[in-house]
Amino acid sequence: MPRLPAVHVLLDAPACQGLIADYGREQTVDALRALLDELRAALRAGAEAGVSVDGIVALLGMRLAAANVSRLRPVFNLTGTVLHTNLGRALLPDVAVQAVVEALRWPMNLEWDIETGKRGDRDDLVEEQLRALTGAEAVTVVNNNAAAVLLMLNALAPGREVIVSRGELVEIGGAFRIPDIMARAGATLREVGTTNRTHLKDYEEYAGENTALLLKVHASNYTITGFTKEVSVAELAPLSRERGIPIAVDLGSGTLVDLERYGLPHETTVKETIAAGADLVTFSGDKLLGGPQCGIIAGRADLIATIKKNPLKRALRVSKLTLAALEPVLNLYRAPDLLPQRLTTLRLLTRPAAEMRALASQLAAPLQEALGDSYTVLDAPMNSQIGSGALPVELLPSHGLGVRARAGVRGNPLGLLERRLRALPRPVIGRIADDTLWLDLRCLQDDHVAAFADQLALLGETPAP
Ligand SMILES: *Cc1c(COP(=O)(O)O)cnc(C)c1O
Repeated sequence: MPRLPAVHVLLDAPACQGLIADYGREQTVDALRALLDELRAALRAGAEAGVSVDGIVALLGMRLAAANVSRLRPVFNLTGTVLHTNLGRALLPDVAVQAVVEALRWPMNLEWDIETGKRGDRDDLVEEQLRALTGAEAVTVVNNNAAAVLLMLNALAPGREVIVSRGELVEIGGAFRIPDIMARAGATLREVGTTNRTHLKDYEEYAGENTALLLKVHASNYTITGFTKEVSVAELAPLSRERGIPIAVDLGSGTLVDLERYGLPHETTVKETIAAGADLVTFSGDKLLGGPQCGIIAGRADLIATIKKNPLKRALRVSKLTLAALEPVLNLYRAPDLLPQRLTTLRLLTRPAAEMRALASQLAAPLQEALGDSYTVLDAPMNSQIGSGALPVELLPSHGLGVRARAGVRGNPLGLLERRLRALPRPVIGRIADDTLWLDLRCLQDDHVAAFADQLALLGETPAP
């Protein structure tokens, strides 16, 4: 059995000294010992393994590099879902990116009032602008919309009942179910109506002494069609006033502008919801709003004050990075006419299909060349979705590439292709439907096209993992 070089011999090799300079002595020595153990075991088992100093150090370098690669990596989202929860939802505009970089590098007046030199409140940084955009008296910001709903219920309805229509007892993305959040918040769910039809009299019957809130939940990721009836916020408002029970609305996406003016389908805005009579509205920052992950509660000043005193508010608070990103995004809304150019999410949602068509005709031939004879690339119209539960049945006309396996190719060629795309330095994520792998080009931004095209050449060589 060949003998392995001694540890000190390996460590003294100049290439290994370079690794120590990059990765530190402890990490390098630990990785080296682990590598030598493996090589020893492999040799004992009769394997042929190189045992030269250079060979072992080169292997060590690869191990250390692999261990230090970031697991959170940029990818190409060609799924056609613009706000893809698993791919991190909204992409932020450069003004927000720059603000986050500053906030990472500098101390900030996060909870410190520069004018008075006294302690401040982090919500103050965005409150004025959010009030203007929503018509609410007050706002508070927490980690995400699920946190906003939990906090609101725990602050306003512990030990009391919250009325929700059976048609609105939704599950959003597996872990967020209204009945579960309600239980965790210490409130009792009072379901009223039926799945397809709920009437005002259903709310009237149960709204009493022990009712803390009338809660409405945006159905987000599903729609009920046919013989249906939902009680709107405006229809609930007189009952709410008469019995002194606030209306809370979990709006999900929280649109701040009328999307129709940009040619998109109408989604009820936060302002409309408050104007219709909602006392509190909760919504996400990283869905249609186009900002960082956060949950915003907007509404009546007295209710927001109670919410802010709840200890969960402290546990669910947002970081300075979130607020650094949120403020410039909200400021973009001061120029609604320029929003489709400036707010990345809106730019992607309103991107004309002609742009995607041009990209498809530019990229079809290079992709075909990279894939070789086993596949056929077609340039095809398709539909994108907004995603994250916003307008789930509305589709946006788009264009992209479809890849099919040529007849007679054995095995699972599409599965193999999907793995090869994922194995690229910047993984490409599409979707498989109807025996075709679809790459929707809506979210391939102009300044990312070159990076996308450059790595196509690697597609042929990339080993499937
Ligand atoms: C998305 C959504 C949530 C969850 O929001 P997060 O910001 O992901 O926590 C809650 N309610 C509704 C109606 C939603 O659409």
